[in-house]
Amino acid sequence: MARVQLEDVTKHYDDVTAVNDMNLDIRHGEFVCLVGPSGCGKSTTMEMVAGLTKPSEGTVSIGDRDVTNLPPKDRGISMVFQNIALFPHMDVYENISFGLRLRDYDKEEIDRRVDEAAEVVELGGMLDRMPDEMSGGQRQRVAIARAIVRDPDVFLMDEPLANLDAKLRVHMRTQLQRLHRELDTTIIYVTHNQAEAMTMSDRIAVLDAGELQQIAPPLVCYNEPANLFVATFIGSPSMNTISGSVTDTGFSSDYGDVHVEFDPTAVGVTPGQEVTLGVRPEDVYVTADRDEIAHPTQAVSTRSDVLEPMGDEIFVYLVTEDVDVGGSMEEGSDPGEILMSVDPDSDIGEGQDVEVVLDRSKLHLFDSNGDALTHGLVETPGSGAAGEAEVEGDD
Ligand code: ADP
Repeated sequence: MARVQLEDVTKHYDDVTAVNDMNLDIRHGEFVCLVGPSGCGKSTTMEMVAGLTKPSEGTVSIGDRDVTNLPPKDRGISMVFQNIALFPHMDVYENISFGLRLRDYDKEEIDRRVDEAAEVVELGGMLDRMPDEMSGGQRQRVAIARAIVRDPDVFLMDEPLANLDAKLRVHMRTQLQRLHRELDTTIIYVTHNQAEAMTMSDRIAVLDAGELQQIAPPLVCYNEPANLFVATFIGSPSMNTISGSVTDTGFSSDYGDVHVEFDPTAVGVTPGQEVTLGVRPEDVYVTADRDEIAHPTQAVSTRSDVLEPMGDEIFVYLVTEDVDVGGSMEEGSDPGEILMSVDPDSDIGEGQDVEVVLDRSKLHLFDSNGDALTHGLVETPGSGAAGEAEVEGDD
């Protein structure tokens, strides 16, 4: 059984703490993505599981063994990296079988394993091809086959699709999911691409600045993010964040006129407290469509600024105040700006006055540290039992 555990693992490089007090318990057969922005400690975490880097503190276990001090070759792992290093003078068969030949496996066993692995990555007819006769995606599949033939307990993959073009990446994503199903192996996969993490993982481990922010199934990270970092990192485009404060009867924004009625005692917040409201673009509706949701907020007056037609939906950038909207959407919305997703047949044009409502059952509230207070603000003042925040999910 290849359960992978990191217990209280910290890694310092001189004055940089690359990974801080990481605890991960990855079950046998699980596909877990480590995701987060560049420099957050994903590769360092992976290298400590692989044995390429030693933790400054803490222990790493694979299966029942403490492997903290074992070299990579004794850990039962196979690695696939972003930069595919195939031997250019060897054909596919020789590349895939290289590790087995080094270990003196007999020819029959090597042939059997190479055939099996080539079958899994759909390279069956190409064993005599040279690397320079193959596409990037085919070469990456050779690298994966080379990892498979070693029959590892755990696959470690560090951005293996990063160098492929967009179409191929999507194709390889499904290939990897099939591979996981067929091999019944634990896979730990590093990516900064949240779409990759969302689509492939059983669970996502979201890292920021060397610290684990949340580890949960993709939809839990999406619907019930533990904090503002996860809320704005998972999901594309990002969740809107609206800063404001708690009033006697709910929330009032710093910019624009966003008011949400809820019972502060039910959520455990006090009037005057600074909070951030989070709402995903798909949970913002034009007022005319308010009947589509059970718990709309009061109407918010906005003006449409920029439209982005995506084919299956249109992203509408709404401005609630006369503010500079030149900033980037990467880290969440700019002050006074709300991004809304509407149907492609919507007749909203640029520069129009638009009244919107938010779906209260999908609103998130975060405290001034960014920690989630609640997901779903349906409890209005005086409507229900105080002290019970209703948290709604669609699942
Ligand atoms: P990620 O894979 O998420 O991009 P890394 O694990 O590579 O992040 O890096 C985490 C932090 O540790 C970064 O600040 C990086 O500069 C630092 N770091 C990584 N490897 C080394 C090293 N060998 N020496 C010094 N600092 C390092």
